Amino acid sequence: MLAHLPAPTYFPRSWRVTKFQSTGIGNLYKCELLFLRGVSPWTPVGAVPDLPGLVALAHRLLAANRGRWTQSSTGSLHRGQTTYVYGRRAQPCRRCGTAVRKDEQGERVTYWCPVCQPEHPPAAVQNGTIG
Ligand SMILES: [Zn+2]
Repeated sequence: MLAHLPAPTYFPRSWRVTKFQSTGIGNLYKCELLFLRGVSPWTPVGAVPDLPGLVALAHRLLAANRGRWTQSSTGSLHRGQTTYVYGRRAQPCRRCGTAVRKDEQGERVTYWCPVCQPEHPPAAVQNGTIG
């Protein structure tokens, strides 16, 4: 889906191009997808391990939520349990218990876990592609 678009430098621009973010739902998916893949929100797209896998996961999440009033990335539709990090600043990460952080990223805010989403993806560091 993104293959025909010009290569973006960082995630916010790429997702804006796809118009996900025009509804506000897109930012939720961006934050949740990066968490699920263990990718820091500040990772350049070129340094993301398995970018096709991330895009495939995005398709699965969007398909799973199609037609639902409540958007969920956790699989739960219970209030307060629909996201891993989005909208959960200072609450414990569902995976490791570290406080979820919220930071500004351009004109958007991003939610992320500093432990589950390290600044440099471990796989890329191990492969010597960055660092
Ligand atoms: Zn975590």
